[in-house]
Amino acid sequence: MTDGPSHARGPVFDAEVATDLEQSDLSHGTLLYMEDVSVSFDGFKAIDGLNFYVNVGELRCVIGPNGAGKTTMMDIITGKTRPDKGNCWFGQRLDLLAMDEAEIVHAGIGRKFQKPTVFEQHRVFENLELSMAGPKSVWATLMARLTPEQKERIEEVLDIIGLTQEAARLAGALSHGQKQWLEIGMLLMQNPLLLLVDEPAAGMTHQEMDRTVELLGSLAGEHSLVVVEHDMDFVRALDSRVTVLHQGRVLAEGSMDEVQSDPRVVEVYLGE
Ligand code: ADP
Ligand code: MG
Repeated sequence: MTDGPSHARGPVFDAEVATDLEQSDLSHGTLLYMEDVSVSFDGFKAIDGLNFYVNVGELRCVIGPNGAGKTTMMDIITGKTRPDKGNCWFGQRLDLLAMDEAEIVHAGIGRKFQKPTVFEQHRVFENLELSMAGPKSVWATLMARLTPEQKERIEEVLDIIGLTQEAARLAGALSHGQKQWLEIGMLLMQNPLLLLVDEPAAGMTHQEMDRTVELLGSLAGEHSLVVVEHDMDFVRALDSRVTVLHQGRVLAEGSMDEVQSDPRVVEVYLGE
């Protein structure tokens, strides 16, 4: 699961913070706490008394109609948006509302946006190399010699994301799905405890979706994941606990079968 040295391996990831979290907080079981969180934009409550908890190693799907507040919720977790009220904790000790975006990344929260943002003109291997570099320049990073541990980690991540065969190709030449996996790999290079993934299935072929389900499933356990997705077949295939957001709060939570047969959920989706 999440104990052991694997999370303290990356050069960007803050091993000290991780050790703090692992020893005293993660034993508690909950990695992310959001309690009574609200935020308004020009008087409109985008998030309204939200309570949301994610366990260590859990894969959680978040669904909900357009405008439900899914992206805003991720913006709050990553420090991009500050709530008007409420509490957000990472483990029991890190107050996310007292941290800036860089500190939150450093503490082990990685986010993947919908559109892949790989370095198209660089090779797949180099993309992974660059993503563990931190503030160094592209040139300095690519010229620096990799330690055997770094090389091993890149190879390990290539294997996880299924791009070992593509390591020497330019990222710009990859398929849309492969670019999405590469970007997940780039996040993995920073050894996040929590990965936030916004609409990974968008634009994918069925085959790519199946592979993405496998990939995300394989990351759970070692990482916690929050996956926002519109494609219900994809969410069903992930076979995880599902949170339904509506009007900035949790409408229902449970297995896909449970939430899909909830009359309130049916009403919200039919009324969309
Ligand atoms: P979802 O991702 O579930 O579709 P969002 O979190 O993007 O929903 O948006 C929730 C609501 O908040 C929407 O009505 C949206 O227009 C509004 N909203 C989100 N971000 C902003 C912002 N920065 N300024 C004004 N309104 C916003
Ligand atoms: Mg959104």
